[in-house]
Amino acid sequence: MGLRWLGCLALAMAFACGDGAQPSARNVLLITIDTLRADALGAYGSARGASPHLDELAKRGVVFEQAHASSPNTLPSHASILTGLQPYHHRVRENGVDKLAEQSVTLAERLRDAGYATGAEVAAIVLNRPTGIAQGFEHFRDLDSPGVQRKQIAVAADGSLHDPSAVDAQQRGDAKTFDLDSRGGAEVTRDGITFLREHRSGPFFLWLHYYDPHWPYAPPTPFESRFADDRYAGEIAFTDESVARVIAEVDQLGLGENTLVVVTGDHGEGLGDHGESRHSLLVYQSTMHVPLVFAGPGVPRGQRVAAPVQTVDIAPTILAWAGLEPDPAADGVSLLPAFEGHTLPDRPVYGESVSLRRFVEVSPLRFVREGRWKLIHKIAPELYDLVDDPAEAHNLAGAEPARAEQLREKLKGLLANRRDAPEAPNGELDPDTQRRLESLGYVVGSSSSNSDPTLDTIEVRGVDPTPLAAKIDPFVDALGATQFVDAQETAALLEKLSRELPKSTGVLEVLINVQLAAGQAEAAVESLRRGIGIDPDQQRYWTNLGELLTRMGRNGEARDTLTETLRRWPCELGSRTHLANVYSRAGARAKQIAVLEQGIEQCSSPALMNDLAYQLATVPAAELRDGKRALQLAESMIGSLGDNPLALDTLAVAQAEAGRRHEARATLAQALAMAERQKLPDEALRILREHAAKVDAGEAIRE
Ligand SMILES: [Zn+2]
Repeated sequence: MGLRWLGCLALAMAFACGDGAQPSARNVLLITIDTLRADALGAYGSARGASPHLDELAKRGVVFEQAHASSPNTLPSHASILTGLQPYHHRVRENGVDKLAEQSVTLAERLRDAGYATGAEVAAIVLNRPTGIAQGFEHFRDLDSPGVQRKQIAVAADGSLHDPSAVDAQQRGDAKTFDLDSRGGAEVTRDGITFLREHRSGPFFLWLHYYDPHWPYAPPTPFESRFADDRYAGEIAFTDESVARVIAEVDQLGLGENTLVVVTGDHGEGLGDHGESRHSLLVYQSTMHVPLVFAGPGVPRGQRVAAPVQTVDIAPTILAWAGLEPDPAADGVSLLPAFEGHTLPDRPVYGESVSLRRFVEVSPLRFVREGRWKLIHKIAPELYDLVDDPAEAHNLAGAEPARAEQLREKLKGLLANRRDAPEAPNGELDPDTQRRLESLGYVVGSSSSNSDPTLDTIEVRGVDPTPLAAKIDPFVDALGATQFVDAQETAALLEKLSRELPKSTGVLEVLINVQLAAGQAEAAVESLRRGIGIDPDQQRYWTNLGELLTRMGRNGEARDTLTETLRRWPCELGSRTHLANVYSRAGARAKQIAVLEQGIEQCSSPALMNDLAYQLATVPAAELRDGKRALQLAESMIGSLGDNPLALDTLAVAQAEAGRRHEARATLAQALAMAERQKLPDEALRILREHAAKVDAGEAIRE
């Protein structure tokens, strides 16, 4: 409380303070820069000169030299920043899989309830609204918001990647341009400035998320040429300039004296350290150590704090700065005492990654840090003295077993004292989102990691994750490029990895997707068969294999696979339809009809009834044809299929076959009008017209 009062004194000219009334406007601007290693900034020791403006901001505020993210993944890390909770409490462990539960109380909700206008501009699909991260933001613009432009990447003829602005006129004709599933920093800056102007009367809470330093590193001109040998630094230089424009606007609007600016990263980037080129798999400082800078009213200038802190401290600090009650459940603490030079309470710093579990059965990878010591808890534990060895090159776990054990006990305590938290709902990704995530290099899976009861236990199992990460690293690299790099190359890499990790269905499934995208159907068939070998109860291997074989015209194999699929899952309708088609193609119409009949007996499905009715009405062999039963089926399914012109077509064909030509004509007229209204493809309209002509001419419809 003392500091807040001091802050008030400092601001006494601008605000009515001391009578318990809230100052008229104390704004918060939170800037998270994706994939920002602490040591990429001058303020943290970089000599690259990529961050002049952020370094300037650091000089006029407080720099936390040792800040840690809770996760090397974007969504879990931001969930921690915005809730003050560690992942074992907010339960968001994975991008694209877990959702922040509605019961979670976010910083945006707290500030909104305290009368703040809340706004967010986020730049990556992994932070889109359905992730739950938008809670509390009255204004929230993500990749799917109206009018949002996707960032673009240009692939030059030599395969190099560039921002379109950095492709010179000579190359332009040969370069191919692709949309990325992210927003460029220029747009975030522009929209952020608009929010500032519209809410200048305050108080406001604005969160800006910059994604540019995330791979692919393709800085816009002039940063590409200025940082030709270090494109990652070029992206940071571009982002630095973007942030500078926002902060200049804050000053220009006269808000500099009453706006707290907080800048941090959601995680770093491996850049080859410890065999990791990007981020997400490992928990070394290259990806866990992030910048954390506070500047603005109530924040002393030029202070540097060496004590380890964590990004879960950001929300409690902002709440305390705003004079609001802390969230009693928060794992983080207010850092305001450190602003005044007081020591922070002793507590372990924590971070985790569960991403390797996508590929292989391994325990989550966790670290715990206290003071200078950091333990990475795993089968072969690693202990580092971060003061003497910030690069984590000398594992002291063997030399200092007591210290390692002490930290392990701390970690055990954190996990054991964990409160029961709401289960994070599964995001239930649609295939399109899944593809888009994969195009960004995210490995997405099918099930929430939270369902595993061993997730939050101290016991470790499986194999040591570190060597695995080194194997998986080139794959994570390749996967991120499938959208704009030759898919054959990616497939080859994945195949190699899949041979190295023969039991990993995670690798296999992505391999199958890439093989299909690369048109390697034969190889995909082999991969699907391997998947069935590993896990025969996994329905999607069977259904995909059956469908693929059907499409390839490998009728015998398709028939056997689809028959076995239906023996296991009789109501797998797609497989039943494919099997019926395989028989139809082979001229085995009796078998085709029998497959559909069995489906109707075992499962309630209007779609199958529609199929069967059509076959019974149109099959050329008189002994198989049954117009009466076709009509009965068509009449009973028609209501369930909604306004469906093709269901009406089936009804009409059955009516005609049952001798009710007059009704058939009326039904077809209705079907045609509906099909035109629904803008069905020409082919569908052609079939309806052909049927109508045959009914008019008194001809039978046979297929
Ligand atoms: Zn991120």
